[in-house]
Formats: sequence, structure tokens, C-alpha cells
Amino acid sequence: ALSIGIVGLPNVGKSTLFNALTKNDVLAANYPFATIEPNVGVVGVPDDRLGKLAEVFSSQKTIPATVSFVDIAGIVRGASEGQGLGNKFLANIRESDAICQVIRVFTDPDVVHVDGKVSPADDIETINTELLLADLQTLEKAVPRLEKEMRKDKERASLHKAAVEAQQVLDTGKTLFAAGVDAEPLRELGLMTTKPFLYVFNMDADELGNEELVAELRAMVAPAEAILLDAQTESELVELPADEAAELLASIGQDEPGLDQLARVGFRTLGLQTYLTAGPKESRAWTIPVGATAPQAAGVIHSDFQRGFIKAEIVSFDQLMEAGSMAAARTRGWVRIEGKEYVMADGDVVEFRFNV
Ligand code: GDP
Repeated sequence: ALSIGIVGLPNVGKSTLFNALTKNDVLAANYPFATIEPNVGVVGVPDDRLGKLAEVFSSQKTIPATVSFVDIAGIVRGASEGQGLGNKFLANIRESDAICQVIRVFTDPDVVHVDGKVSPADDIETINTELLLADLQTLEKAVPRLEKEMRKDKERASLHKAAVEAQQVLDTGKTLFAAGVDAEPLRELGLMTTKPFLYVFNMDADELGNEELVAELRAMVAPAEAILLDAQTESELVELPADEAAELLASIGQDEPGLDQLARVGFRTLGLQTYLTAGPKESRAWTIPVGATAPQAAGVIHSDFQRGFIKAEIVSFDQLMEAGSMAAARTRGWVRIEGKEYVMADGDVVEFRFNV
């Protein structure tokens, strides 16, 4: 499954955030046979549609889509010089499909800042520079090697060309993702800045309503997405019963936990979307890449469903709700029969027909 690596300078609240995430872990409840690794948190993607589906279908339970976060320690200024970024850091980040940077905005004088002052813009610059330099180092080693290889093997020429172009982009100070460079041909080089970034600004709770500051922080990272939260409050929220959590949220002027926003934005940043299935047993959100076809979507449930795919009966969630039941949606002609070529839309409610 795709995952998001959490990175940030020391003392910005990564562990606090990650611990809150893992307390929210849905893996244990819904996937009892999955192995849980200490630095991986699997969280449910909050989805109001599931509760509504469960009502219509009298489902016993709901199962959300999930998104995995990996805690990646070890980035500091100058990491890419000197001893370089640690091997474990590099391996972890290479396995991630998106990078979530945690940036300190909270001011607490009791928590030391590695550079002596709290400056979100400087910290973002520091991290981006380290990632850029690390990619440049990778390419400096790869390009001469690829030059030799392409003398023997013409097929290496396209990778060589992509690598040289990537170097030119990085030399301008842009990440490969921001420059719109296609990651696919470069895949084997394990570059980091081909991945999409998202940002968590760890704020003092009483600043979350500071619209000027919030706008400034969002603008700092746009078009990448930003989540603004207070990691300490988030870690308290996950310990509280629902009614007390709602009270605490209201007291800081928020209507949703930051972790919920993080799960949703993270999911979207990974290029994922969901389709829905519903029945008396469960209403469930299934994860597919944007652009997946109906047979590919069926394959997420079971590979036999993809192999034996015949057709899919599909109604959009909104139309199903408007009709009030599957039977009523059918009567109105809103349940479509789709074939192998159909590209799934977010919120399709689906029943697959297949041969076994
Ligand atoms: P990490 O090094 O990035 O993993 O940071 P930690 O999560 O260990 O946090 C470093 C210190 O900052 C700890 O003492 C935390 O309690 C504190 N801290 C984390 N988040 C916040 C926050 O949102 N506000 C305040 N005031 N302190 C925080």
C-alpha cells in the first residue's frame, strides 16, 4: 500500500503527531492479521458517506479506506553534507510515496529550536534544500555510471537523458515534483523530490483561528496542501471520549480534528480515491488510484473479481441518497451497467458481476 513519510527538523512535534496518529490506528480493529510495525501508523480516512450508506443498507459495520504514515527520523541541516542523510532515513523515505513535512510554528520557549528561533519559512527551506542536495548527489553518481552503461546498452540512454534533465531542474532550486517531472522513468534512482509534498504546521492552539497567519502559512507552501493543527491538542483528543473531544475542539474553535484533515489530504496527495460497496454485513470504502478502471477496482477486493470481471452495476453516492434505496435508484434508471473500459469516479457505489 502507498504510504506517507513524516519528516521534519528535531523538536517540531513529529513524535507527538505520530503518537496521536497511531492511537487512531484502525489496523488492529479491521485488519487483525496485518503486521503492525513500530514506525507505521495506519489511519482511517474519515468519510461521512459510510454512515449514510450503512443506514440505507442496515449494515452491521462500516470500514473506511486507510492511509499509512511512516515516522522518519533523522533530518537536520547539513545532513546531506558531512555524513550524508542516514541510510535508514534514505531507505525509509524512498519507500514512501509522498512526504509530509512537519513544521514548527508553536512558540513554547521551553522547547528548544535547533536553529535558535522559530521560523517556518527557514525550516521549510532547510528541509527542501537537504532533499534537493541529496537528489543531486544521487544524480552526480548516477549520470557518469549511466554514460558508461549506455555505450553497451542503448536502452539506458533514456534514463541517462532523464537523469541529466532532472539535474538541470534541481540546479534551479525546484523540486522535481514541483517542476512537473515524470517520476516513472527515474524510478530506479530512488529520488526523493519526485514525490508530492504536504505540510503540517504545528501551531499553538490559540493561533489556529488567526486568519492572517493561516493564510500566510498556506501561501508559503502552495500549491502543496497544508494542514494546520496543534499536535499536543491532537494527542489529547485521541484519548478523550467523543463528547469531551467535541468540547475540546469547540474550545479551540475547530469543528474537526486536524488528524482527520491530515488523513484526507494525505490520501488525496497520494493520488488515491475511493469507491463504495454496501450490504447488510458492511459498508466499505475501497482504495483505488485516480484513473482506475472498473476491473482494476474489482481487483482491489479480490484478484478473482478482476480476472472474471463481467460488468459493474454503479450508482453515484449522491443519486443513491436522493433515491433513498437501491431499488428506487433502479426505478429511476440511475443504476448504470458499466463494462471493462469504465473509469471509476469517486463515490461510485458498486456491485461487481464476475465469473469464477
Ligand atoms: P520531534 O523531535 O519532532 O519528534 O518532537 P516531539 O514530538 O518530541 O516534540 C518536542 C517537544 O515539543 C516535546 O516536549 C513536545 O511535548 C513539544 N511539543 C510538540 N508539539 C507541540 C505543540 O504543538 N505545542 C507545544 N507547546 N509543544 C509541543
